[in-house]
Amino acid sequence: MTETLFSKIIDREIPADIVYEDDLCLAFRDIDPQAPVHILLIPKKPIVKVADAVEEDQVLLGYLLLKAGDIAKEQGYGEAFRLVINNGEAAGQTVFHLHIHILAGREFSWPAG
Ligand code: AMP
Repeated sequence: MTETLFSKIIDREIPADIVYEDDLCLAFRDIDPQAPVHILLIPKKPIVKVADAVEEDQVLLGYLLLKAGDIAKEQGYGEAFRLVINNGEAAGQTVFHLHIHILAGREFSWPAG
């Protein structure tokens, strides 16, 4: 996988407002927030998009979901938050390193745009 903006954030080549980090993942505030809380949670493993994940990523993907819930709780929004994963350009993905958007702090409508 080629270097992306997010791999550069993992490597500290680009600054970010990091809110959580462990051996498997990193979470930082989105530079263009779409809600009062807008955090991106990424695996350190460079998976391009959900559709590229493989069976050995099963535990990692579950871990990310649990961690997303923990982060929403830590931000004070454990009861109401939205998780978004854009998979592929036509679905709105612009950075090709899998990431979960954690959005909270406002009302969300459905369907998503
Ligand atoms: P997506 O469109 O799902 O690929 O999401 C990419 C997200 O990355 C967008 O919400 C951008 O605002 C965000 N983003 C782009 N560059 C940065 C950066 N340097 N630091 C934090 N977030 C960024």
